[in-house]
Amino acid sequence: MSNIIAIVGRPNVGKSTLFNRLTESRKAIVDDMSGVTRDRHYGVGEWIDKHFTVIDTGGYVANSEDVYEAAIREQVMIAIEEASVLIFMVDVTTGITDLDDDIAQVLRRSNKPVYVTANKVDNTALYNEIHTFYGFGLGEVYPLSSMTGSGTGELLDEIVKNF
Ligand code: GDP
Ligand code: MG
Repeated sequence: MSNIIAIVGRPNVGKSTLFNRLTESRKAIVDDMSGVTRDRHYGVGEWIDKHFTVIDTGGYVANSEDVYEAAIREQVMIAIEEASVLIFMVDVTTGITDLDDDIAQVLRRSNKPVYVTANKVDNTALYNEIHTFYGFGLGEVYPLSSMTGSGTGELLDEIVKNF
């Protein structure tokens, strides 16, 4: 299996909500390895006639920003190695945070396709806020509402072109 999409981003941006949507009605495989790998969930999905694996990273339990940062960096590094395509999820309601910048820096050095997705774009007014995320220098920004599913199709249309 080489069609692997990893969802990366800081906590609470909506990674797991998107994971559940992309792997809807499918059995999510929970990896039972130790350490950072324990916090990764694997599921399978399909779009049109393309089948793929989705990795949900994170599930961080620590409260300290420092621990977050180290754990997230490690998750992103593993995701870059494991995945064929990366979804970098950010939150339109908070804008860019230091952690977002940190992750973006790691992603810019990867040689994998990165799809910047601005999540929580639940209404058209918020659509006007996504322009800020072009500042990452990671190309196109895809507006998304993982909660309603809006924007998911447009994102997947682009992603499956890699498969
Ligand atoms: P994760 O930590 O990145 O995996 O984020 P979660 O998927 O656990 O979501 C964090 C919070 O954001 C939860 O309360 C979700 O219900 C909420 N959330 C996720 N997607 C959306 C969305 O598209 N719109 C809104 N308004 N909230 C969302
Ligand atoms: Mg999560």
